[in-house]
Amino acid sequence: MTKLLRSLLQSKHRCHSSTSPLFTLINPANATPHSHYHAPTPDDLSHALELSSASQKQWSKSSPTQRSTILRRAADILSQNVQHVSRLETMDTGRPIRETEFDVLEGIECLHYYSGQILQSHDLLYNHPTGQAYVKRVPMGTTCGIGAWNYPFQGVLWKGVASVVYGNSMMYKPSEFTPSTALWMEECLVEAGLPEGVFQVVLGGGETAQHLIHSPKISKVSFTGSVSTGLRVYQQAAASMKKVTMELGGKSPLIIFNDAHLDNAVCGAMMANWYSSGQVCSNGTRVFVQEDVMDEFVQRLLERTKKLRIGDPMDTETDIGPMVHKLQYDKVLDYIHIGMKEDRATLLYGGKRPNNLPSHIQNGYNLQPAIFTNCTDEMTIAKEEIFGMVMSILSFKSEQEVIERANNTEFGLAAGVFTQDIQRGQRVIDSLDAGAAWINNYNLAPIYLPWGGCKLSGIGRENGVASVEEWTQWKSVYCEMGDVDCPYPK
Ligand code: NDP
Repeated sequence: MTKLLRSLLQSKHRCHSSTSPLFTLINPANATPHSHYHAPTPDDLSHALELSSASQKQWSKSSPTQRSTILRRAADILSQNVQHVSRLETMDTGRPIRETEFDVLEGIECLHYYSGQILQSHDLLYNHPTGQAYVKRVPMGTTCGIGAWNYPFQGVLWKGVASVVYGNSMMYKPSEFTPSTALWMEECLVEAGLPEGVFQVVLGGGETAQHLIHSPKISKVSFTGSVSTGLRVYQQAAASMKKVTMELGGKSPLIIFNDAHLDNAVCGAMMANWYSSGQVCSNGTRVFVQEDVMDEFVQRLLERTKKLRIGDPMDTETDIGPMVHKLQYDKVLDYIHIGMKEDRATLLYGGKRPNNLPSHIQNGYNLQPAIFTNCTDEMTIAKEEIFGMVMSILSFKSEQEVIERANNTEFGLAAGVFTQDIQRGQRVIDSLDAGAAWINNYNLAPIYLPWGGCKLSGIGRENGVASVEEWTQWKSVYCEMGDVDCPYPK
């Protein structure tokens, strides 16, 4: 265990108990434990919720300038700790250090973004013949965030920072597999001046999450995770009329037309499938290629995929790290085996354990990226979310045909199109069921663009102009300046 992580796990700011279940954190690069922690007991959680609720009442009275200043200070602290935080994230997730450093830099941008957002007024004033009315944006109260293991640092910022800046308090439960950077962020916000209790990280698994979702103190649940858990959480939250944001899974289409800049399209397909070992919710794993450029596209993709350096995620030269844990590694391998048995699909490349790993990461959960060609829409690998490096390549003839096939899925998170005809690009994107879409690129998610999906991929949006809607509620006030106009006899 690193000194830094030990101090985070024993932080005085966080609720924990030494008598409750013990969780062990495994470094996916070498499959060895790197630290452990106790989850909170139900009593610990109840105390933390009391603290959250009491601190929110005070915090909601703070001025926008005070909140903005705290976030700018937090951004400064984060800027001085880019290496520390990205190493923690890589140790938990196995994602290459180059990727996690990028996330930390985006985190700094996120803090600056919300420090500016809160200074804008969203209140409205109306004049009425005998009075005045105003509509205020007021906080939701005590909120809860539940994060997935693939982008833990992004999760804590997108949910936690957005919630508290609008005057809420937040109880944030990271995935039990990847809590370290959320704990770091809790310390960072307190050091920057956030009052104790306003943002609390609570450790543990599904049981901890369930305690929060069912608590009457919680007014809003923001969840990121799988469709199956998300559907359950949505129903449970609805039982007590809690507001929700659901960021769930996907099986997104990436469409490459015959007039596309093919090298850019290959870059897009690689970014949409290999980044973070394929563990990205918005990945474009159904790659539709117009039939007359199929051979050229596949050849260029293969050449570049073979050059990827699979290795130690702490090495800045590494392109592909391990899968996050053994369960995910096994699940992805199972899908590759299913793909190999599908009727006509051809495993063109990869899908095996690399045999040239350095000795210190021999036990890591590494896999080669897998490219399947000759896929059809009804194949399991082309229909289900795999959350690993399994690319299904499908051929198409016409624009109308590909739009229909791309939309023929229960998911609606993301979509991409590569074409040099910008009118066609916009026309196709307008026809696709997706909350996030790209023309001639893939997987960019700057903080000023709202993020989220439709259909089974979720409800609500995070970030950008959507954040105020997600983390506040309207309060309408009418103030009478004259006498009450009453129709009843005196
Ligand atoms: P899960 O649904 O398994 O878990 C998500 C979170 O829910 C974790 O914190 C998990 O805790 C917690 N959880 C587990 N059981 C319960 C329960 N019964 N009640 C409430 N919460 C529970 O998803 P994964 O962590 O495996 O994440 C992968 C999924 O997330 C993929 O489907 C991916 O597409 C989606 N995702 C969506 C994103 C988006 O923006 N749309 C972004 C990132 C991922 P614990 O991990 O401790 O068990």
